[in-house]
Amino acid sequence: MVTGAYKGLGFEWCRQLAKGGYKVILTARDFEKAREAAANLNDQDLVVYPRALEVTDEGQLAQLATWSAGMFGRIDLIVNNAGVNPKDYADKDKMAKAFYLDQLDAEEMLKVIHINSIAPLLVVKHFRGLLKKGQQPVVLNISSWLASVNNLRFGGHYGYVGSKNLLNVLNKSMAFELKRDGIICLNVNPGWVKTDMGGQKAEFTPEESVKLIIQNVLEKARLENSGSFVNYDGTPHPW
Ligand code: NDP
Repeated sequence: MVTGAYKGLGFEWCRQLAKGGYKVILTARDFEKAREAAANLNDQDLVVYPRALEVTDEGQLAQLATWSAGMFGRIDLIVNNAGVNPKDYADKDKMAKAFYLDQLDAEEMLKVIHINSIAPLLVVKHFRGLLKKGQQPVVLNISSWLASVNNLRFGGHYGYVGSKNLLNVLNKSMAFELKRDGIICLNVNPGWVKTDMGGQKAEFTPEESVKLIIQNVLEKARLENSGSFVNYDGTPHPW
């Protein structure tokens, strides 16, 4: 199950997972966009099911978990990919409220944190039972190099930097709790990727980033490594 998946990295996750033999649930907050993206992959003979999901909506999460239980009986992998970066907001006043100290606004900051840091855990809250029944179940949270305290070299960006950093520590804590269920929880930096968020000057295509993460992170995921923050090449990322 992949969140925020009608475009960008999320769409590519669906494509490569389906090509690798997974039955994939492609979710997006706008069902029509999910349907179109899934139809594109269905045309390539890939098994992909579109569902509507706004990741902060627990009613939708509960419905999706019930539907998934009926369809599949288990979930092997969740890619918590949906995320926002205030720098991309069309409304620049709104952007400034989660970006610059002088305009900082608690409500706008909390909206970013709700989506980027808390929603990935809400997803797992609702899918925990199905993950428990999965085959070597993994929760993969798409974090960022901007989450790293040690690597931070500039100011501002408060909403994004703070929310991805919080996601890392929340995942580490969740990993301890879910170890007894056999669920592996990882945070990965996908690199700088050519998407609407990353821009076209970025280093990797979505195809390259996802391929590297599947090879270096997913295929090597072990319960002993649960809670870690790693790069797309599998090396530990500085916290
Ligand atoms: P995109 O902007 O292309 O994709 C982000 C996706 O998240 C969109 O489909 C968006 O849907 C969805 N989304 C945002 N908020 C919600 C929500 N509340 N509920 C459901 N879906 C939501 O960017 P990327 O593909 O680059 O980003 C994917 C992930 O990778 C993000 O978590 C990002 O932070 C992370 N990342 C990306 C990097 C890069 O260089 N590209 C670098 C480091 C991390 P909608 O259009 O409806 O808003």
